[in-house]
Amino acid sequence: MFKDITDFIKQQFPNQDFIPLHEPRFIGNEKKYLNDCIDSTYVSYVGEYVTKFEQQIIDYTGAKYAKATVNGTTALHIALIAVGVDVDDEVITQSLTFVATANAIAYQKAHPVFVDVDRDTMGMSPSSLRDFLSAHVELKNNIPYNKTTNRKIAACVPMHTFGHPCKIDEIVTICNKYNIPVIEDAAESLGSFYKDQHTGTYGKIGILSFNGNKTITCGGGGMVITDDKNLSDKITHLTTTAKIPHKWEYEHDEIGYNYRLTNVSAALGCAQMESLSDFIKNKRELAAIYHDFFQQKNIEFINEPLNSQSNYWLNTILFKDGTERDEFLDFSNSNGVMARPIWKLMNTLNMFKACQTTDLTNSIYLSERLVNIPSSIRIK
Ligand SMILES: *Cc1c(COP(=O)(O)O)cnc(C)c1O
Repeated sequence: MFKDITDFIKQQFPNQDFIPLHEPRFIGNEKKYLNDCIDSTYVSYVGEYVTKFEQQIIDYTGAKYAKATVNGTTALHIALIAVGVDVDDEVITQSLTFVATANAIAYQKAHPVFVDVDRDTMGMSPSSLRDFLSAHVELKNNIPYNKTTNRKIAACVPMHTFGHPCKIDEIVTICNKYNIPVIEDAAESLGSFYKDQHTGTYGKIGILSFNGNKTITCGGGGMVITDDKNLSDKITHLTTTAKIPHKWEYEHDEIGYNYRLTNVSAALGCAQMESLSDFIKNKRELAAIYHDFFQQKNIEFINEPLNSQSNYWLNTILFKDGTERDEFLDFSNSNGVMARPIWKLMNTLNMFKACQTTDLTNSIYLSERLVNIPSSIRIK
């Protein structure tokens, strides 16, 4: 049975000895644009590709503003700063996520609070969030405080897991009642839409990642998207060392960051954006092929949730228990097919052990059983 699965995956990626989880593909103007950077000497963060890349993201996602950053983690960090997350605040997120989400919160010396996910989306559960807020949070002068810890709740960061949109409209509605700004960690979901609207555009701010393993890549890169001009201006300022624009004077009016994406990375991003629609089509075809195969095998394949169109960044299957999962991981990884369990839950990591959590039944269930399987764009 495990052999059937790995043989089938190998058929999808012929002529490869080892099949990784997600490889980048450069089949367009990448080399041409990189050469332009070198020929023009604009290799650092001033240059036409940065602006062009931001415009492509605006056009594709429908956000009003986009600001490129050196990676997705810094995009998250700057987004948290922009909405005012500060020392000793609390930020609600999900326990089932990549560590960058929780790390960015910790960079501000704020405390993550981990709520549960839904079984179908693998993203933040609106009911778990609602339960937490109604049990623990009260508004004082319209500012939300955790009654147990007396700390301010400064933001909520839901994540669209493996590209599948979470129920983001419900999450935003709940958070609005408590005046909690939502920052969407859409690092994995470029090309994923919820109710025909791009993920990352429901909250006050959304962030994207262009790391080497994501749907498109700049080598390393990130983006902050928002409809709010003030936030966008603040992010531009903070990511460029908070320098007051002037032809020759160097004056900075607060502690800023060197988080701007370089023109070289943006050049790659521009070429990759030109391939994005084809990439998504290709990935959705692979997901349909996997779906049919695993249905025959009686293994649960995670489909896009209701009301959404997913980029199927990483295809995911669910084993009946942790033992079966581990046997599969052992077999596939020793037979040239990379497969990987999902992340350890954030609240089990040493640095986040003491953080407040809700009941995490779904997170625990999923983290013991889910496996990501190879999901690269297939070259025909
Ligand atoms: C990839 C990722 C990030 C961080 O992106 P980098 O570009 O690698 O810094 C953040 N959150 C999630 C959920 C991710 O998958």
